[in-house]
Amino acid sequence: MIDFELTPQQAQVKEMVHQFAKHVVRPISLQADKDHRIPDDFMLRLSNMRAMMQAGEVPAEYGGEGGGAGEAKDKKGKSQKNRFSLIGGEEMAWGDISVLLSLPGPGLGGPPVQFTGTPEQKQRFFGVFKQPGLHWGAYGLTEPGAGSDVAGIRTACKKDGKHWVINGRKCFITNGGRADWVVVFATVDATKGRAGHRAFVVERGTPGFSCGKIEDKMGICASETAELVLEDCRVPEENLLGGEAHYERGKEGFMAAMKTFDSSRPMVGALGIGIARAAWDYTRDFVKENYVLARPIPRYAQLADTLAKGKRLLDAARLMCWRAAWMADEGVPNAKEASMAKAYAARAAMQVCRDCVQIMGAHGLEQHQFVEKWYRDIKVFDIFEGTGQIQRIVISKRILREAPSF
Ligand SMILES: Cc1cc2nc3c(=O)[nH]c(=O)nc-3n(C[C@H](O)[C@H](O)[C@H](O)COP(=O)(O)OP(=O)(O)OC[C@H]3O[C@@H](n4cnc5c(N)ncnc54)[C@H](O)[C@@H]3O)c2cc1C
Repeated sequence: MIDFELTPQQAQVKEMVHQFAKHVVRPISLQADKDHRIPDDFMLRLSNMRAMMQAGEVPAEYGGEGGGAGEAKDKKGKSQKNRFSLIGGEEMAWGDISVLLSLPGPGLGGPPVQFTGTPEQKQRFFGVFKQPGLHWGAYGLTEPGAGSDVAGIRTACKKDGKHWVINGRKCFITNGGRADWVVVFATVDATKGRAGHRAFVVERGTPGFSCGKIEDKMGICASETAELVLEDCRVPEENLLGGEAHYERGKEGFMAAMKTFDSSRPMVGALGIGIARAAWDYTRDFVKENYVLARPIPRYAQLADTLAKGKRLLDAARLMCWRAAWMADEGVPNAKEASMAKAYAARAAMQVCRDCVQIMGAHGLEQHQFVEKWYRDIKVFDIFEGTGQIQRIVISKRILREAPSF
């Protein structure tokens, strides 16, 4: 019933992405972090990376990585897309997380278009990525007054003839400033809560749509995080995801926002594991070289014990993420397991990165030693895609809902 072995295709993708991460990505990691940007020519090389990861971000029928491993089926004929994304994602994050988050492609904007868009909308918006050059999509949910409280978004949308007029601000949007389009969540009536939500694709260059400040952050510095401003922004009615009839059922706009998380939360967990595994590998080599081979010291046993604990935490976290991804591939509801995986992996990864800095002592604080960077990079994993507290609320609500009543 349970098989922990990677298929030959999965093992091949893992190895290929790992080699790319090691020899191409890692060498630019520290400089990109210092410069707060990834060079454009490097970005162009990255365009091919998405295909190599076989993440299937752009579905094959809309010009994506068709025929690749991301489209491969398992023994039961089910897609393995989520599992492939996790395997490739962990390796790329091992190389550098900002590079991974900057990969050209629809990014987090992809799932709402895929789940909610009409065939014409998918053709149009995924079609952008077939064009030469660098293209990104983005996901605009968070606002200055609504992060965890997704139902509380205030960005307003109002129908006016054949357009919708949108007013509001979005903040902390990954790749928001350079995206060709952003999925923007707005409300027809804030008093209606979730039932008022609508999801639009707002294209770059739409009158009234602009990029505000680019955030200066403590970690993942080379990944762009932007503020977006919508001022009497007129969006054609064809850009309402799913069309108007889609929202008559009730909370469809909100569901479009939430469904993204079923596949993105296990992925975010896997990325955190990739960073922490990088820190762990680096620290293991440091310990071996400095404490075991060069100057054996009594505290070595305790350091080795801390390394062993890190290994246990990361392996357990990976299994939880893989289970949630497998459920997503199987089409089994996984909101609880996705939140469990994300909550556990983020905490485990933060603990491992903190322990690695500690084990290396003062060297752990040196900027050229990498672990200092990974320690800064990992914190956001307990914040974006829903904070740790929010994941725990999701888990506990589901546990009680599932409990039999007597
Ligand atoms: C680098 C980065 C990239 C991001 N990328 C994107 C993106 O691409 N698109 C996007 O839409 N958003 C993005 N975000 C935003 C991110 O999803 C939010 O920051 C996150 O949801 C938390 O919201 P908040 O920052 O407003 O914190 P708040 O919601 O204000 O939370 C503050 C604190 O209160 C706690 N809290 C809140 N509500 C509760 C509750 N009910 N019970 C217990 N504790 C609670 C939180 O856990 C947290 O500790 C990004 C953020 C960062 C930092």
